[in-house]
Amino acid sequence: MNQKKIVIVGGVAGGASCAARCRRLNESAEILLIDRGPYVSFANCGLPYFVGDVIKEESKLLLANEALFRDRFNIDVRTRHEAVAIDREKREIEVRELATGRVYRESYDALVLSPGAAAVRPPLPGIDLPGIFVLRSIPDSRDIRAWIESKNAKSAVIVGGGFIGLEMAENLVHRGLSVTVVEMLKQVMPPFDPEMARPVQEHMEAHGVKMALGDGVAGFEQNTTGQLVVKTQSGAAHAGDLVILAIGVRPETGLAKAAGLTLGERGGIRVDDQMRTSDPAIWAVGDAVESRDVVTGQATLIPLAGPANRQGRIAADVICGRDSHFRGVQGTAICGVFDIAVASTGASEKALQRAGITDFEKVYLHPNHHVGYYPGAKPIHLKLIFRKTDGRLLGAQAVGEADVARRIDVIATAIQFGGTVFDLEESELCYAPQFGGAKDPVNFAGMIASNALRGDHPLADWGQLGAEGEFLLDVRDPDEFEEGHIPGAVNLPLNEVRARMGELPRDREISIYCGVGQRGYYATRILMQNGYRVRNLAGGIQTYRQIKSV
Ligand code: FAD
Repeated sequence: MNQKKIVIVGGVAGGASCAARCRRLNESAEILLIDRGPYVSFANCGLPYFVGDVIKEESKLLLANEALFRDRFNIDVRTRHEAVAIDREKREIEVRELATGRVYRESYDALVLSPGAAAVRPPLPGIDLPGIFVLRSIPDSRDIRAWIESKNAKSAVIVGGGFIGLEMAENLVHRGLSVTVVEMLKQVMPPFDPEMARPVQEHMEAHGVKMALGDGVAGFEQNTTGQLVVKTQSGAAHAGDLVILAIGVRPETGLAKAAGLTLGERGGIRVDDQMRTSDPAIWAVGDAVESRDVVTGQATLIPLAGPANRQGRIAADVICGRDSHFRGVQGTAICGVFDIAVASTGASEKALQRAGITDFEKVYLHPNHHVGYYPGAKPIHLKLIFRKTDGRLLGAQAVGEADVARRIDVIATAIQFGGTVFDLEESELCYAPQFGGAKDPVNFAGMIASNALRGDHPLADWGQLGAEGEFLLDVRDPDEFEEGHIPGAVNLPLNEVRARMGELPRDREISIYCGVGQRGYYATRILMQNGYRVRNLAGGIQTYRQIKSV
């Protein structure tokens, strides 16, 4: 084991982590790290901000280089060297030196594949026109910057409204470009539920980004003024001086597939929980592999830096003789969109539905990120999804200006430990006026959900409001009601509920709502204790407005 030769293909998130940890665990192994690109260990996640000129120097994106790997870790790094084939029988890989075309072989005792993912480029008419870019590497970002500068670009069309598309929109606006986002789905941020994506879309529009949702791209053309035109399936045309394609990635599995390694049902390399492929001498990590979703239990592709880094460490542990296991992924992610953050962890409602899981309930809330009496409080829009039968946490999504990450991180950790809404109710979190509340938004989420599960606070679903025979009660003040209410609602302000409850029907289910859910909860408690059948709309009319117009 000590004289082991470890060869790693792909030298960024998963590969570089794996290489460095292999050295920390085994001082005498021979470690070779190859990458077909010009750099190893660079910050892909910083690329949109380099294009946007927020990060001004390219060198800041280089977290480590060949010399550091050699001098500090005694690792042989070869950039611009591409692995072109694996000879599993001989335990050798074939490598092409890109500068010269020379092909040579390297033997291995353990081989790690961390080749990442490739940007999807569908074979649409005009896809290869100059000025259409993807963003995966430093050279990509350099090309985009050069194009913007040399063409004095004033406008851009971004195809795809996911994380990278939205980050690029923000950064191009930051550079003074007018930006249109074209997205096939009717919402931005596909992993989010539509009602949580809506405020993000509105925020983009408020920052001048034109949104063309629910319309797929049909092709690209160049018009007479030299601009690129993105044609859509509905017949619309969006012109810009450049186009960014950000419609997702697919795992880089060519090498693995040609070598006969088993692929999974989602098209990624299949690995066990020690990151071992179907060949016991080959490991694979990062964007190229399928992982187990800890919430749905299903195989999934999660192209995120955190899992890639952790998987790289696990593979290194196992190669170096340790019994480490990867716990699975839960898709914890965050994206900055101008001055708000959008974050999620675990499963969304639509992911649960896709997985055929129906045993779940959800609550919405809009608490301030710190107490309202301290200046600068900003609301966080939070959705918590949990199992109906036992309160087990399944997922959360949040949007807001401040401290969104902290709340999602707490819930992410609770999910990893198999926590429940009752655990969130009891969580003891930091509090001083400028940082939170004695009841933190995370506690509130747990309390609302726990109250629902205990039967103290039956929940109405905004999607089913107005069902036949239901009585819809708005407990806000009359002026709020006049400004806009859900069609068919009757107004009875909370403070009058005790005195006037005789006006309410006892033979019908009453769905209550207020502004954000709190007054509705108080009204629910009063009426329940007086024998009425009531449900409250968690998140109130604010959540309802996120999806329906009032
Ligand atoms: P990569 O880091 O992509 O590395 C793969 C490397 O393998 C590449 O350098 C490639 O050249 C090399 N390679 C491939 N095939 C071969 C071969 N045959 N021979 C030699 N070398 C090969 N994740 C987050 O969690 N948060 C973020 O904010 C975030 N932002 C992102 C922004 C952008 C613009 C991009 C592109 C990605 C972002 N990600 C983010 C995703 C994150 O960067 C990836 O999930 C992570 O880098 C995956 O690591 P990996 O090791 O699997 O692949």
